[in-house]
Amino acid sequence: MSSHPIRTRFAPSPTGVLHVGGARTALFNWLYARKQGGVFVLRIEDTDHSRNSEESKQIIIDGLHWLGLDWDEGPQKGGDHGPYYQSERNAIYEEYLAALEKKGFLYEEHGAIRFRSPRRKVLLEDLICGNIEFDLTNPATHPDMTLRRPDGSWIFHFVNVVDDIEMKISHVIRGEDHLSNTPKHLELYAALGAQPPRFAHTPLILNRDGSKMSKRDQGANMSIYPEQGYAPEALRNYLSLLGWSPKDNREILDTSTILELFELHQINRRSASFDPEKCFWINGQHLLRMDLARYRELALPFLEKAAICSESSEMLEKVLSLVKPKIKSLPDLPDWVRCFFSDEFPFEPEAVAKNLSTPQARERLSLLAQALLLLECWSASSIETCFKNRAATLGIRVGELVHPARVAVSGRSVGAGLYEMLELLGRERTIKRLLASAENR
Ligand code: GLU
Repeated sequence: MSSHPIRTRFAPSPTGVLHVGGARTALFNWLYARKQGGVFVLRIEDTDHSRNSEESKQIIIDGLHWLGLDWDEGPQKGGDHGPYYQSERNAIYEEYLAALEKKGFLYEEHGAIRFRSPRRKVLLEDLICGNIEFDLTNPATHPDMTLRRPDGSWIFHFVNVVDDIEMKISHVIRGEDHLSNTPKHLELYAALGAQPPRFAHTPLILNRDGSKMSKRDQGANMSIYPEQGYAPEALRNYLSLLGWSPKDNREILDTSTILELFELHQINRRSASFDPEKCFWINGQHLLRMDLARYRELALPFLEKAAICSESSEMLEKVLSLVKPKIKSLPDLPDWVRCFFSDEFPFEPEAVAKNLSTPQARERLSLLAQALLLLECWSASSIETCFKNRAATLGIRVGELVHPARVAVSGRSVGAGLYEMLELLGRERTIKRLLASAENR
């Protein structure tokens, strides 16, 4: 036994984007390896030169980095079982091909090299799908597979099996779309005299309407998530629930809890349904629950992109903790907080029309400003008292002061608690903005 008996791998073909299905496969392999104290390998299956691209390799690697699925062996990392690109493993495939040739399994047809099936029944003991028997006795329904094309390039089945043997993979966790390939793979293991790994075929991912999810469906492309402000830990949470769920059906799970609870055999055989709204909701829950330091880390790129910078990090933290409970998605953040860091912010025309357009509203703002000017202590609670007193004197509801004041200081009709906002903005800026709106708008 080696010192790391559990070895899983993610083996993408770099022919396009990293798809949700691929990301989930990578996640399950990573979870299983991490949970068992095993090794997670990344192998790039780039034998199909006509469909591979460098760009796609990069997209996949970047996507895995972003998701936080670190590999122990693979590109950029190395390891004892490399190279980890199939395009660099030709000599190994030649050796295995020679071994099959020697045992009499191969024949040539029209320049291609084919494998002579022993024509048996093959039993797959799948960790998720259970036992499945495949009857390969009939050449009409199960023709001999090709291992090598006439141009010398390798066929997926052969190199996939050779690499899983060479890389000492103990568990192959992959999508159910590969289920029909697995009997062929089992034939190859047997022919090569190798012990097959344990297989676990994960259920398909469907759209909400029941159609099979494809690359073009909403939410399918993993590269949209960073730019839409998703937290990787939230995506790990959502992806883990595509086919698996903890016994108590909890939905918001941090990664250490998933690691604690995850069991391969608990993966459901039924198809999983991809729901972009649920994914969005789960992300919102993670944003709500994460600590401020993490929130700030995720928020900074969005603020920078919107050219919002804070002179003091204390102010930034106060603003973020004020708006954090309210904001559902990070791309909304700049609009919510711009007014704290600059006097240049846009006014929503509807909010102005509704709250600042009458002489009466402007008069009230000016009276409010006068009252605030005299406040002894500039705190949210004394600001609130001041609003209430002013409203009582004017014989109006406090909302009739709050809404115009909010638009005057932030340009918007929604936001965090107004009194807390004003406390943070400070007396000088608050009064300046109230008076500016009282005069101009
Ligand atoms: N390159 C194959 C794919 O991307 C790998 C399948 C497997 O995991 O064995 O579908």
